[in-house]
Amino acid sequence: AALTLSLSACGGGRAGAGGDTSAEPGSNAGALIGVAMPTKTSERWIDDGNNVKAKLESLGYKVDLQYANDKVPDQQQQIESMLNNGAKALIVASIDGTALTTQLADAGTDGVKVIAYDRLINGSPNVDYYVTFDNEKVGIQQGTSLLTGLGILDADGKETGEKGPFNVELFAGSPDDNNATFFYNGAMSVLQPYIDNGTLVVPSKQTEFQQVATQQWKLDTAQARMETILNGFYSGKDLDGVLSPYDGISRGILNATKSAGIDNPIVTGQDAEKPSDKLILDGVQYSTIFKDTRKLGDTAATMVDAVLNGKTPETNDNETYNNKVKVVPAYLHESVIITKDNLTKEVVDSGYYTQAEVEKGE
Ligand code: BGC
Repeated sequence: AALTLSLSACGGGRAGAGGDTSAEPGSNAGALIGVAMPTKTSERWIDDGNNVKAKLESLGYKVDLQYANDKVPDQQQQIESMLNNGAKALIVASIDGTALTTQLADAGTDGVKVIAYDRLINGSPNVDYYVTFDNEKVGIQQGTSLLTGLGILDADGKETGEKGPFNVELFAGSPDDNNATFFYNGAMSVLQPYIDNGTLVVPSKQTEFQQVATQQWKLDTAQARMETILNGFYSGKDLDGVLSPYDGISRGILNATKSAGIDNPIVTGQDAEKPSDKLILDGVQYSTIFKDTRKLGDTAATMVDAVLNGKTPETNDNETYNNKVKVVPAYLHESVIITKDNLTKEVVDSGYYTQAEVEKGE
């Protein structure tokens, strides 16, 4: 106990506790803001980082933007360094939502405000606000689009009377990301009744979150699992559809089905990534969920500006996101189901990507 005490008393050797920074309007003008993003392997996070940075700079702030290559120790170190450099607020999209307690305790001691970005940070009292999409609804949209693609629901979400049975498999995201269970539970809330009544059949019988999760959201991991399932459970059977929570995972699944010679299974996704947009236009991937990350970036930067000027940022959900220590006040944005039919309207006409980008897939 003595050792633990003296270690924590050192505060990890960090310098300069700055006290509460939130009070005086104007006193934080031009302050440094730390922006910690998880990875560059998925383009959405590159867009997120650029959007947040641009918006903060337009408000006059200096920005330290870091990517952690999906490595938890790197992200911890980056956040420590932002604090050491005098950041007055942090915007953090965590890799492991439970691994930042020490760094955020240091932020709390320094009076540095913390906004959890897209992914909730769990187990810490030092999370001031959360900006994200309605994650359960994203899952509901994923499940719904699987049912629509299979012809069980029509475009208005009404049952067509189609009873299958359809063979489907289920994938979820990374277990260390708080969003992954929200997506999966949302999707299963619409799929479970059709599994129960026999319209959907899961030949692998893998339906528990832990069985279907994909560490770090990796394409290769999803591809390998899909291959194993096809080899083990599909001799003499067709695969009709796959619930996928993220476009990278969808592309892994589609690589596996293509090698196995399976024709056009209905595969869902998320993020409207350019390579998946192309697959959707080509009729290979069925759907994705478009989350306009420009809105997220705007809200995160606006929240920082508010707290650094002693104001309370606008939130629209104060009950859903309990991080095991507190309910974090959140602002939730809306997401949109994308198929071939509305991709151009939603993704291109809104200026998110150009027609050339979605057609080329890069
Ligand atoms: C995000 C998704 C993204 C996934 C993988 C989640 O936390 O909310 O938009 O697809 O991470 O990067």
